[in-house]
Amino acid sequence: MAYRVLIAQFMHETNTFSKLPTTLDDYRRRWLAPGSELASRFKGTKTEIGGLLDAATRYGWDLVPSIAANATPSGKVTAEAWAHIRDGIVESARNAGRIDGICLACHGAAVTETSDDPEGELLEALRAVVGPDVPISMTLDLHANVTDRMASLASALISYRTYPHIDQYERAQQGAALVQAAMEGKKRPRCLALQPATISGADGGRTTQPGPMLDLLARADAFEKEPGINVVSVQAGFGPSDIPNVGPSIAVSYEPGQEGRARDIARQLCQEIWDRKAEKTVGMASVEEAMARLKSRGEAAGPLVLADGTDNPGGGAYGDATRVLKALIDADARDAAVGTIFDPAAVRAAMKAGVGNSVTVDLGGHHDPEFGAPIRVTATVRLLSNGEFVNDGPMQQGVATSMGPTAVLRIGGIDVIVISNRIQTIDRQVFLSQGIDPARRRVLVVKSVQHFRAAFAPIAGEIMVVDSGALCSPDVRRFKYTKLRRPVWPLDDVASPFPN
Ligand SMILES: [Zn+2]
Repeated sequence: MAYRVLIAQFMHETNTFSKLPTTLDDYRRRWLAPGSELASRFKGTKTEIGGLLDAATRYGWDLVPSIAANATPSGKVTAEAWAHIRDGIVESARNAGRIDGICLACHGAAVTETSDDPEGELLEALRAVVGPDVPISMTLDLHANVTDRMASLASALISYRTYPHIDQYERAQQGAALVQAAMEGKKRPRCLALQPATISGADGGRTTQPGPMLDLLARADAFEKEPGINVVSVQAGFGPSDIPNVGPSIAVSYEPGQEGRARDIARQLCQEIWDRKAEKTVGMASVEEAMARLKSRGEAAGPLVLADGTDNPGGGAYGDATRVLKALIDADARDAAVGTIFDPAAVRAAMKAGVGNSVTVDLGGHHDPEFGAPIRVTATVRLLSNGEFVNDGPMQQGVATSMGPTAVLRIGGIDVIVISNRIQTIDRQVFLSQGIDPARRRVLVVKSVQHFRAAFAPIAGEIMVVDSGALCSPDVRRFKYTKLRRPVWPLDDVASPFPN
């Protein structure tokens, strides 16, 4: 008899300091797929659902596909959107009759209008249907803010081991294998999590160069080989979130009798996170430093890639901050391309003007002028499109992405891709789909802080991550936390990773 396994996805990285609520329409703009559409949308993609679908085929599961939901990071998920997704997944479990296992794909840093720990709430609701013994794996983004409730209700929390995140497919397969082993009675996984008293650490999770995160993962890999230890996950956490459990954590899935060893492993890794919490492998340049470098590079080979890291929509920023664009305009930059500025009104104005015509707009800066005011520009409309493409880079390969109605505006020597759906620049198709070959430009601006490296490092002459002063500041002291557990570094004077 085939095992009956429910699969579902609820993704969101919530920046609670963003003014933009995350609605069901925001999910529809990225994806909000009912169970019946999972196979047609995700089979063959390098995603968690793609991985789970392939695992289901391999193990011959009788699949119970439920909702897959993902939205670009922004403010709190509305009560309506959360209820729709949560209740939809729980309803699938309830209607399924028998359930032998569950594989969930979550981000782990979601906050909703009604819950500071929606992933824990989802697990609790599912446990109420299937009971305590059905194995449940939950994959997580390595920027998850993990809670004890999540760990105690899941059989395993399995977070990505790459940043840029390119191993969603593999982590989902790992979760599926564990659930399969548990259903066969070969495993009885339980999970615990531990968190040191710091908001930031593990170098933000970067795995592109030697540093704390790669060292932590190497130790985690070694611990995973011990008998009775199933999974050792390292989460770097997500800072801009006003909830108690912000920050790095370790989650260990273990077999009965190994709880003490699992706790010991978690303590050792938390201690290393603590000891190296101030280590950073990538610094941020000012806008002025970036412009000086552009000038001094002259005609050096390959584009200078300027990552507008603090306006990264992937961290919940608005994606319409204008300081870098303003500096390029002031510098009269040539052969430049900016991907992207989020400004639906400017796109509408460009559509009204038509291709080849001139349009005057107040571009960007609408959500918080503190991050760079709107720029009055007169531009030529070079291209208009629906902004749709399929990712062909290493991240989310094969996934359809929509920037919404999109206009390419030419301002002097700068092409600006103006979009109507906020997205992070993780794929070269952001440019290529708009008739711009990013490899042939002298300077590129991408709205991303780290993920862009997967697709853009191979074509970059040089990379600079820029702090333009926008919402995703690396300085957590700028955020007004009210719910955070205390004491916590760097806001408090804390002497040990486990002060309480
Ligand atoms: Zn992440």
